[in-house]
Amino acid sequence: MSRHASDAPVGAEKRAIKHITHWIGGKPWDGESERHGDVYDPATGQVTGQVDFAGPAEVDLAVDAALNAFKSWRRVSLSRRATVLFAFRELVRDHAVELAKLITDEHGKVAADAAGEVARGLEVVEFACGIPHLLKGGYSENVSTGVDSYSIRQPVGVVAGITPFNFPAMVPMWMFPIAVACGNAFVLKPSEKDPSASLLLASLWAEAGLPDGVFNVVQGDKAAVDAILAHPGIAAVSFVGSTPIARYVYENGTKAGKRVQALGGAKNHMVVLPDADLDLAADAAVSAGFGSAGERCMAISAVVAVDPIGDELVSRISERIRGLRVGPGSDDRSEMGPLVTGPHRDRVASYLDSGVREGATLAVDGRLHPVLGGNAEGFWLGPSVLDHVTPRMSCYTDEIFGPVLSVLREPSYEAAVELVNGSRYGNGTAIFTNDGGAARRFVSEAEIGMVGVNVPIPVPMAYYSFGGWKASLFGDTHVHGTEGVHFYTRGKVVTSRWLDPSHGGVNLGFPVNT
Ligand code: NAD
Repeated sequence: MSRHASDAPVGAEKRAIKHITHWIGGKPWDGESERHGDVYDPATGQVTGQVDFAGPAEVDLAVDAALNAFKSWRRVSLSRRATVLFAFRELVRDHAVELAKLITDEHGKVAADAAGEVARGLEVVEFACGIPHLLKGGYSENVSTGVDSYSIRQPVGVVAGITPFNFPAMVPMWMFPIAVACGNAFVLKPSEKDPSASLLLASLWAEAGLPDGVFNVVQGDKAAVDAILAHPGIAAVSFVGSTPIARYVYENGTKAGKRVQALGGAKNHMVVLPDADLDLAADAAVSAGFGSAGERCMAISAVVAVDPIGDELVSRISERIRGLRVGPGSDDRSEMGPLVTGPHRDRVASYLDSGVREGATLAVDGRLHPVLGGNAEGFWLGPSVLDHVTPRMSCYTDEIFGPVLSVLREPSYEAAVELVNGSRYGNGTAIFTNDGGAARRFVSEAEIGMVGVNVPIPVPMAYYSFGGWKASLFGDTHVHGTEGVHFYTRGKVVTSRWLDPSHGGVNLGFPVNT
């Protein structure tokens, strides 16, 4: 198989095995890679592509291109940057179906879900279009006699984004629209499991008029990540992925002197109080537990039923699951697709056995769920429910990241909150109740970064910031919104005096206001 730029997926004819490479300096990389990875269609289990894996040499090339581009991009006017962003927004909208298809092909999620991911990513692009307003500083006249002071925010330089498999378009779009709008150059290292969406986005940037080198993509695995963390030309790193790797990236990135925000894994609880509308709660648990096959960092994975509604809630959840249509993401009838890889499907399924071994009841066994037009080689696992789960079981303590809902029973609101706050993760949580006072108390007491009230997946809009607490975030800055703008800029305060004839001459004292 040849390995040239023309083999890249962007604009290329579809081949049996697609070659997916890096995007450096405004075009696909045309070198020979020493290492590669297979890319699968999760619905068939077949290898559909081969992706180049970057090592230090390719990361060097991308960072050199970015450093070079940064010199002039940081000087481009805010209006001009916004014009490029508006053009990019239109292009992503025009190519939304194509982008969603790439996501379905490599990730497996159903077409509507993939389209939703693109739409949520676009909201961050739209937020970044307001960069002239977002970068406004402050100005104080006469902080001392004849002295003025003002604050500005400047880009940090070359920043890298390292992203997970579960949102191959949206999570990168949490990062790069804002980073680029702030005047930085960007190097994206997407997941090696579904790398194609990043290349389409790169080509759309080029078409939108972004200068070559401002946006680059290096494909790969740990070797690429390590090269990014070690590279002295990279000033900041945004990471989203599992907790062990988030910790690793945070520790090594900061040790190398970089600014790092590293978002990790999750175990999101949905507390259902006895007064809740149980149909609403059951609908929400099924939607939030099994959408995208549970491969969402904001998926509900633990339902906490406060006595005495446990049996009734499990019965209503189970009833809804029976009607769910599991099948290929490309089939319009499918509501839930396959899991991303065979080993991941097997790992997720192993929790059904370990849960039962540890004393849980398997209320719904997803291994028995029918698959529409199912190709037996696909990475299938239907929706499952483990009931009577307790906090010591591994199906509760581990992040499963698949279509397995654990139901825990608690005797009171207080016990439910204690359970939520005892989790090592703190990404999202939700409470279902008709009691405004209880909901208000929960919002205040939950030690969690994003809280929903009768909303199971409380993902903030682009103009708020997204991020968890505890083992769900290393660093102190959440992504997008104003915290995103802060992460990708450095503050500077200027004190200036334009001398008038009455200046006071030499004064060795410490500057004080006069
Ligand atoms: P992952 O941690 O395996 O991979 C994330 C990135 O790190 C990928 O680009 C991958 O190539 C790289 N990577 C993997 N192993 C590495 C290693 N040993 N050293 C250096 N880099 C490595 O995560 P994933 O399986 O792709 O994604 C699922 C995880 O992401 C889940 O834990 C999920 O909760 C989390 N996630 C979190 C959020 C959030 O906002 N907190 C959002 C989406 C996904």
